[in-house]
Amino acid sequence: MSSYEDVVKEVLSIIWPKPLKLFTAGPVACFPEVLEAMKAQMFSHRSSEYRELHRDTTVRLADFLETKKSTVLLIPASGTGFMEASIRNAVTPGGKVLVTIIGAFGKRYHEVVESNGRKAVVLEKAPGEPVLPEELDDALKKNPDVEAVTITYNETSTGVLNPLPELAKVAKEHDKLVFVDAVSAMGAADIKVDEWGLDLVFASSQKAFGVPPGLAMAAISDAVFEKAKTIPNRGWYFDLLKYKKYLETQWSTPSTPPIPQIIGLNVVLRIIEKIGGKEAWLKMYSERAEKIRKGVLDLGLELFAKPGYYSPTITVVKTPPGIRGIEVYEAMRKRGFEIAKGYGPVKEYTFRIGHMGYITDEDIRELFDNLREVIEELKKK
Ligand SMILES: *Cc1c(COP(=O)(O)O)cnc(C)c1O
Repeated sequence: MSSYEDVVKEVLSIIWPKPLKLFTAGPVACFPEVLEAMKAQMFSHRSSEYRELHRDTTVRLADFLETKKSTVLLIPASGTGFMEASIRNAVTPGGKVLVTIIGAFGKRYHEVVESNGRKAVVLEKAPGEPVLPEELDDALKKNPDVEAVTITYNETSTGVLNPLPELAKVAKEHDKLVFVDAVSAMGAADIKVDEWGLDLVFASSQKAFGVPPGLAMAAISDAVFEKAKTIPNRGWYFDLLKYKKYLETQWSTPSTPPIPQIIGLNVVLRIIEKIGGKEAWLKMYSERAEKIRKGVLDLGLELFAKPGYYSPTITVVKTPPGIRGIEVYEAMRKRGFEIAKGYGPVKEYTFRIGHMGYITDEDIRELFDNLREVIEELKKK
């Protein structure tokens, strides 16, 4: 026993003064097995043990994403790091990108494009709506000079899942690079990288894989790496060619990777295998999402997303008239549930229920028992 147990207790009392059940948009609750494995003592990321961890995790993730053609990178960053990397590595300085926006994270991609000195052509839909393939086709016909298209697979602010395979198909017909923000989709919504022709599809550890934050992962096509060779000043930290070289020569990263998170991801990928593979895992997610949507509708509340495009990872709920989203959030928190506040343009009159990570059926039942009472109380006030 070390003599510093009190120190640990002090810190934990800051972050966990009382237990909360998480229905967040990320970071989400992690499998106990993930947290257990992440407690392992550290070791060098230049060791043979690390190489094996990195190799094995990469191979398993490539398998999960159904890709043999692309390169899977694990990098020390949050998911947004890959937004920046996609633009800096695969769009000519001053060149144009078609940015599709259906909510707050599409807007972020827009900012990333412009803050890196590239030009954005925007295709924006009203909150709650997806982008439709014919709309993308139209936008690309009008803007033949864009080099790439950005798509938010699952818009976490509105709870909408875009029809990614159809959108990617249109982009490919126009011979454009396809960059996909799959941060809140990967691990819960199907992704078939090779079949759908995705050039750079990225996510973060702290969403549907249910691992603590700090690790970003992506599958990247050869076309992106070829383009990167022609782009000057890609920078150092997000230079994808540098990451590829380190992967190929030593199954590692140019700078220090978040080893615990990679251990955590490896554990999750093995748990997926144990529960019956990708299909069984995605089914678990879609059934959980259905259960949550049904719970919301049973309370007489309305879903924000357009029917047919519901997210498998987050349900955005309209508050009843006169009730603000933040009031529901605060009242649930008092009862021991951390849901997600409304986000972006629809913040005021929505709240969100995240369904990613470690959540049991019992948690869901308790959530709705409490939510029912909270809504009743708020209606009376
Ligand atoms: C959470 C989220 C992000 C931001 O991810 P970070 O890991 O915080 O950088 C980007 N896009 C979507 C769709 C998200 O849900």
